[in-house]
Amino acid sequence: MTTPTEWMKDEYNDLVSKGFDWKPPVIGGPSTGRAIIDGKKRIMLCANNYLSMSNHPKVKQAAIDAVKSHGAGSGSVRPIAGNMDIHNELEETIARFKNREAALYYQTGFAVNSGLIPQLAGKNDSIISDQLNHGSIIDGVRLSGVKKENRTIYAHNDMGELEDRLKKATKKSEKTLVISDGVFSMDGDIAPLDQITNLARKYGAMTYIDDCHGEGVLAGGRGIGAHFGVEDEVDMESGSFSKAFGVVGGLVAGEKHMVDYAFNKSRTMLLSGSAPPATIAACKASIEVLESEPEHVEKLWSNTEYFRKELQSMGFDTGVSETPIIPVMCGESHKAKELSAKLLELDVFALPIVFPMVAPDKARIRVMMSAGLEREDLDIALNGFEKGGKTTRII
Ligand SMILES: *Cc1c(COP(=O)(O)O)cnc(C)c1O
Repeated sequence: MTTPTEWMKDEYNDLVSKGFDWKPPVIGGPSTGRAIIDGKKRIMLCANNYLSMSNHPKVKQAAIDAVKSHGAGSGSVRPIAGNMDIHNELEETIARFKNREAALYYQTGFAVNSGLIPQLAGKNDSIISDQLNHGSIIDGVRLSGVKKENRTIYAHNDMGELEDRLKKATKKSEKTLVISDGVFSMDGDIAPLDQITNLARKYGAMTYIDDCHGEGVLAGGRGIGAHFGVEDEVDMESGSFSKAFGVVGGLVAGEKHMVDYAFNKSRTMLLSGSAPPATIAACKASIEVLESEPEHVEKLWSNTEYFRKELQSMGFDTGVSETPIIPVMCGESHKAKELSAKLLELDVFALPIVFPMVAPDKARIRVMMSAGLEREDLDIALNGFEKGGKTTRII
C-alpha cells in the first residue's frame, strides 16, 4: 500500500544515498568538555557552548528556582498573557549588558531573524546582505515584501561591493537595510563592522548585525559592537542564547522605539508562545555569570590560541579564523570524513563540514573551542589530529 507521503521516502532515501542526511549522535548527559556521546565519554569539539554555561551551577540553579516560583510554562504568547516579570527583568539585563537603550527576547535566534527582518523592509525598500549570512537571515529576507530585484547580496566582507550596492539601492528605495553576520560560523572570521556602519551612515541605510557567535566571545563577551567600539551605530543587533550563553533564545538590542516596533510587529513574537520561566531565568543568570566571572571568556581565548597554534605547528591550515571557531582545512570531503572518523576512534568528537555546506574542495573539520575543555583534553585532541592528519596525508 502506498500513502500520499510516499514521495518523502524517495527524497529521504536520495539524501541517504548521497550521504547528505543527518545522523545526530546521542548526548547522554550535560554538554560539557567531556560528554557522553553515543554512550561513551568523549572530548566534545563541536558544541556551540563556548563558555560551558549550559552546565554552570548558578545557571542550572536559576532554572530550578524559576520552575518553583513561576512554573513550567508561561501560559501564553507574550502580548496576551505570557509576559511575566522575569521576561521584563531579562530584557533589562540584556539591554544593560549590551549597553543599549532596550532589548527584546525571542524564543530563538531563528525567531528574531525570521520574524523581525520581514518587518524592516517592504515593497519600496531594498535589502543588502553578505553572501555568507546565516540561513535564518536568508529566510527572513525571503519572508519580506522586498521585490526580488531589490534583494541583493555582496561578496563576503567586500566593502567595495557593499558601497556599490548601497549607492544603487539608496537611489531607488525609500529605506535600505544592510544585514551581516558578526562572526561567520563556517570560517570564524569577523565582519568589518566599523566599515559597514560607516558606509551605512554615509548612505542613510539601516544596519542589522547578527552577533550569535560574537556574544560571550568577542570583547570580553560583549560582542562585535563592543569589539569595534560601534555599539551605538548598529540599529538592530540580534543574537542568540543558544551559543555562548548555553541556554536557548534570541535577542535584539537597540533603541527603545525599535524594540517597541519589533515587539508589536514580529509575527514570531505575536503568534508563538513565550519562553518558559526556567529558560528565562537561566538566560539572565548566564549573563550575570559572564559579567561576574571573566575567567570563562579568558579561558576560552587561551584554549583557542593554544589549540590553533599547535595545529598550525603540525602543519594544518586553519583558514582565516579570528575566533574560537577553528576550521581545520582538509581539502576534499572524503578526507574530512576520514579524519573525523579517526578522531572518533580516539574518543575525540569533531564533525566534518563538507559539500554542500561548503565548497567541494573546502571540506573541513570545524572545531568549536570551549572554556569547558582542560589542557589535558586539548592535548588528547591534538594528538588525535596529528595521528589522523598523517594517516589521511592532510599533513
Ligand atoms: C545559531 C545562529 C542563529 C540561530 O540561533 P538560534 O538561537 O539557535 O535559533 C542565527 N544566526 C546565526 C549567525 C547563528 O549562528
